[in-house]
Amino acid sequence: MGHAGIECHELRKAYGEVQALDGVSFEVEAGEILALLGANGSGKTTTVRTLATLSTLDSGSARVAGRDVGREARHVREVIGLTSQETVLDGFLTGRESLELVARMRHIPRASRKHEAAVLLAEFELQDRAGSRVSGYSGGMRRRLDIASSLVGGPEVLFLDEPSNGLDPHSRGRMWDAIRRRAREGTTVLLTTQYMEEADALADSIVVLARGQVIERGTPDALKDNIGGRAVELTLANPLQRDSATAVLARSDVPPLPGGSDEAIGFVLLKSSPPLLTILQRLDTDGVEVSDVIVRRPTLDEAFLQLTRKVDVHHKRVLAKGTR
Ligand code: ATP
Repeated sequence: MGHAGIECHELRKAYGEVQALDGVSFEVEAGEILALLGANGSGKTTTVRTLATLSTLDSGSARVAGRDVGREARHVREVIGLTSQETVLDGFLTGRESLELVARMRHIPRASRKHEAAVLLAEFELQDRAGSRVSGYSGGMRRRLDIASSLVGGPEVLFLDEPSNGLDPHSRGRMWDAIRRRAREGTTVLLTTQYMEEADALADSIVVLARGQVIERGTPDALKDNIGGRAVELTLANPLQRDSATAVLARSDVPPLPGGSDEAIGFVLLKSSPPLLTILQRLDTDGVEVSDVIVRRPTLDEAFLQLTRKVDVHHKRVLAKGTR
């Protein structure tokens, strides 16, 4: 092989006024699992669709399993597996028939099709319903069959667009195992997810998208560190001072995390945030009495939330300047 699993350079794609991809570049090593994280509309699906040759690029270039997605689209299609957000299954077929049909389309010899379908049905715990029509499957069962379909024939590169959607925790764990197993065998995996926990558990590296641009990349741990690496939980001596505390934090560009209680308030310190001491002094100046401070490592969810908020705030400031 000797090539990266996925290489993309300066991908750009607009839908009318919307710049869905605005210069996206990243690389995924062969056998690596990369998670694309981003809020709704940040460009994750568009990235997957262009790399999987379902959508063309306005500019930029990408190679998947060493093949150019523009010039060698047909070859790319032969070596990839794709689970998109919408199911492509035909409800009239049974689960077993669906997988055998995909195997036939993937030119798997007739003798191996049944075996391959049976192995995948067992792996995704669908063997008991293998003979039932897909139209009678639950949403989670369909999702599992969708993912199983994308694994038929052992693709070199696997694209999974929000694979966890609709899966219960047990099925999600089975799906993670299936993905890890493929990666160990050399399959390159690009998955998109809204679940930071999933990226943390599964991915070797993470790319964070916001407004069609890469705003962070790294291993899950490095990402937590880069972002700032500290979450702070304050306990207020007087719950009635919560609003004043919230105002100080918002002014300091560290808006409180959702949740908390009347007296507990949390926030994430980014590298660019003011020092904790400064924030505590500001609280003191505004008469907010803090009885306890706990500093810990942020969860990936918290780090991600703070990071995307920061991009949004920056974007709004740029827009505001532009309209002045
Ligand atoms: P989600 O988490 O909601 O699935 P996403 O990160 O996958 O979001 P995309 O689906 O890639 O985001 O969308 C990026 C931007 O491009 C959005 O503003 C979206 O409205 C726009 N977009 C995507 N596909 C189309 C289309 N076919 N026509 C018009 N606009 C589109």
